[in-house]
Amino acid sequence: METRRPTNPAAEEILGGYFPVLDHGFVSLVDYMGSDDSVERAARVSYGYGTRHTSRTRGLIRYLRRHRHTTPSEMVEFKFHCAMPMFVARQWIRHRTASVNEYSGRYSLMPLLFYSPPRDQFSVQSATNNQGRGETASAEAFDEATRRWQEIRDRASATYTWMVEEDLARELARIDLPLSTYTQWYWKIDLHNLLHFLTLRVDPHAQWEIRAYAEVMAGMVKRVAPLSYEAWIDYDLGGSPLSRGERVALARLIALEADGTLRARDGASVGAEEMQADGLSAREMRELAAKLVAPELPDYELDLSEMREAEVVAEEMAAAVPRVDRE
Ligand SMILES: Cc1cc2nc3c(=O)[nH]c(=O)nc-3n(C[C@H](O)[C@H](O)[C@H](O)COP(=O)(O)OP(=O)(O)OC[C@H]3O[C@@H](n4cnc5c(N)ncnc54)[C@H](O)[C@@H]3O)c2cc1C
Repeated sequence: METRRPTNPAAEEILGGYFPVLDHGFVSLVDYMGSDDSVERAARVSYGYGTRHTSRTRGLIRYLRRHRHTTPSEMVEFKFHCAMPMFVARQWIRHRTASVNEYSGRYSLMPLLFYSPPRDQFSVQSATNNQGRGETASAEAFDEATRRWQEIRDRASATYTWMVEEDLARELARIDLPLSTYTQWYWKIDLHNLLHFLTLRVDPHAQWEIRAYAEVMAGMVKRVAPLSYEAWIDYDLGGSPLSRGERVALARLIALEADGTLRARDGASVGAEEMQADGLSAREMRELAAKLVAPELPDYELDLSEMREAEVVAEEMAAAVPRVDRE
């Protein structure tokens, strides 16, 4: 039977397909409910499915996003199946507005898959950001870290396998698996909260590994709700709120004239002391400078050639579970 639900051909094309992330992880959009027109229908509380007027839907969605009328976008839902290293899961789980069901290491055997960063992501500690990476580290350091990681992982795997072979409880066997071990979950969230998650997690301040997931999921949003995605890029990722002090400084410099021309006020300038008097700290002035640079906008387009079938991915996961002969 043909569905009467609103669907989007671009989303149907990837539904249930698995997109690789990092060395053993993935994100799959396993289900969704609604699209941009669901946001519009909820906002207007309208009857039936009706005919869509894309330009009207676009204008409304952009207005809602600009003015933070968020509840209509809670009417669109996404359900993902994801596999990620445990340290990524630990950052991800902080987003409390999703429904989560994680793979049970108490019930099931853990696939012994461990994350290794690619060489170009193996970096020294950042000198400027305590929570970040600096320059790429030397090849020697990478080789030595890889050797040491392998040592730990071999021992952890051997202990885990021995414990399950001895029929010791799985909930105990798993306690010393490292944070690099892959876990997986079903993760369901509405569009509003998903965009909040993506704003924080595609940001360069987020750890590179979780960003890799967020970028793929942003590509999925683009396929389910392209107008909402576009508004998110324009107003959230590409936009930046201005503080009172920043607005005061900018208002002294530029004005929008009646004919629609944005004009610099003749010879106007605002000195650092004036901005300080308006309440801007030295750091806020540096941040203002960054806000005044035209943003480079990302395009989170999925690479469909990477999409894999669920069965193939499931077989790989099953092959990584230790073989244990039990009666
Ligand atoms: C770059 C980066 C670095 C971070 N570093 C650290 C760190 O060092 N240590 C650390 O502990 N965490 C850290 N975090 C996690 C961060 O503090 C948040 O916990 C995480 O980003 C989730 O954000 P959220 O609460 O807005 O999202 P969600 O939990 O998805 O919530 C979405 C929104 O719902 C509302 N909400 C949800 N629950 C409540 C509630 N109980 N009360 C009121 N409002 C609620 C809020 O408006 C919230 O913004 C970091 C996050 C990022 C992105």
